[in-house]
Amino acid sequence: MTVTVENTHAPTSLNLTPSRRAVLDIVKSAGRPMKAYDILSKLQEVIKHAKPPTVYRALDYLVTNHVLHRVNNQNAFMHCQQHVECSKQQEERVSILFSCQLCGAVIENANHSLTAIIKQMTGSLGFKSDADMVECSGVCQDCR
Ligand SMILES: [Zn+2]
Ligand SMILES: [Zn+2]
Repeated sequence: MTVTVENTHAPTSLNLTPSRRAVLDIVKSAGRPMKAYDILSKLQEVIKHAKPPTVYRALDYLVTNHVLHRVNNQNAFMHCQQHVECSKQQEERVSILFSCQLCGAVIENANHSLTAIIKQMTGSLGFKSDADMVECSGVCQDCR
């Protein structure tokens, strides 16, 4: 089933199965990063028979398509805050996630200079990076 998502911040065509759509809605409405098991318990309110692999497969698809991002330093998933940019320039651009270690809020930002520096560094090291994210942990303005 192919669904055209009307939200302008979402890509024009995502193959959203019911479980993918439910996982997307859950993470999106949370407004902050969520851990996989919290997503699972929410999902089970909608899809009773949902099992961990259902969630992991849906998350995998949504992360690969840059709709959700994995926040490694919180072991959690968040909705992309800049989706138009992330989906359009996924090969070109590295986003930075500023992650608050007190309240869990994440601010996503992107900077072309950062992308250029990372490309230059990986190039000179002969390293092939598959990262589209850099994480910076700290304390947000509200928690300081
Ligand atoms: Zn993003
Ligand atoms: Zn905070």
